[in-house]
Amino acid sequence: MNSAPARNIAVLGATGSIGTSALDVIARHPDRLRATVLAAGSKVDALVSLCRVHRPQHAVVADEGCFAALRDGLRDAGLETRAHAGEAALESLVAGTCCDTVVAAIVGAAGLHSTLAAARAGKRLLLANKESLVLAGELLMQAAHASGAVIVPIDSEHNAIFQCLPDAHAHASLRRILLTASGGPFRGRRRDELATVTPEQAIAHPKWSMGPKISVDSATLMNKGLEVIEAHHLFGVARERIDVLVHPQSLVHSLVEFVDGSTLAQLGLPDMRTALAVGFGWPERIASGVSGLDLLQHGRLDFEAPDLDAFPCLRLAFAALQAGGTAPAMLNAANEVAVSAFLQRRIAFLSIPALVEATLDALPATAADSLDVLREADAAARRHATAAVG
Ligand code: NAD
Ligand code: MG
Repeated sequence: MNSAPARNIAVLGATGSIGTSALDVIARHPDRLRATVLAAGSKVDALVSLCRVHRPQHAVVADEGCFAALRDGLRDAGLETRAHAGEAALESLVAGTCCDTVVAAIVGAAGLHSTLAAARAGKRLLLANKESLVLAGELLMQAAHASGAVIVPIDSEHNAIFQCLPDAHAHASLRRILLTASGGPFRGRRRDELATVTPEQAIAHPKWSMGPKISVDSATLMNKGLEVIEAHHLFGVARERIDVLVHPQSLVHSLVEFVDGSTLAQLGLPDMRTALAVGFGWPERIASGVSGLDLLQHGRLDFEAPDLDAFPCLRLAFAALQAGGTAPAMLNAANEVAVSAFLQRRIAFLSIPALVEATLDALPATAADSLDVLREADAAARRHATAAVG
């Protein structure tokens, strides 16, 4: 018998790719999963549509200018859902009694405050917003530790590792982590072949359907770089013990190697609903809507080393983790500016790593002992990268 407890869930980034998958899993378990808070950036119509289906107690839009549209939209739909706007409203709902579980799926550093609020309030935190870990991993992990918040990573690789490391014993005998990477849409191309690739080509991921920012990050391999830093914080493992393997089929979601020579892996179809179901149900397993894996149909599993010459973002992320302090926060901020400029066709694909590297060269890392220091480093890197975009 399945005895997973009932959960009241806040879905932050409800209109996005992860948010949509989370709501799909929630809707499969009306007896025990309930969306009580839905939050989005500025897409009021999409948010109201979701409220019609899921009937949450609260809906929040980040953009305060959208408050009236949200309030009127909810009223016109005949819903009792209360409208809210702005960061402070979101933080207080996340920390309040209307939810015990938070799906942190806002994209970028914009997700930091709500993610931290959930960690401080001791919520079960289904953490997709990897940028908050890259920006403030130590503070976030400390906050979760102090409050007793359980973090379940909602990144296929880290969710795989989470499943392979069930307890402290397993953790203590861990030798290394092997993060798999699909290689993105440009796997196998040389650096000079990447000069003219377009945003459309970059976001056409061969295996995963995701939001535009993480899709570009997958094409540059910055996504894997951010994930190395994410793994370091989530699992307390030094950079030297984290390896990256390109695995084009995206069926082995990551592996852990133990001191006795055993390697454990988690496999499954590339569909984030599996990771989300793990997050909602853990330690129980609940249905996600994802089929099992037919290995005979897929036939083969390939592995290769990443090409750091064609995809320097991975090297830059390793270096930022090594440098420590404010370096990962600046790497992330410069990357967000560069990816947004690339998506707006203001810079070329190869300018993404160039801009990140120039920002890190220009702004030396310092110790990062407070949120204010990290926030200032993030802002300085954004200013520098924005000026360089021109
Ligand atoms: P997306 O672009 O599809 O959705 C982003 C969501 O964030 C939207 O609901 C948007 O309204 C909201 N948002 C944007 N700016 C906001 C702001 N300032 N305040 C509040 N809300 C805001 O992105 P996604 O692909 O769902 O990714 C979300 C996060 O999950 C990212 O950190 C990404 O790295 C991570 N992630 C995604 C996947 C995936 O399969 N999509 C896998 C692993 C990790
Ligand atoms: Mg991932």
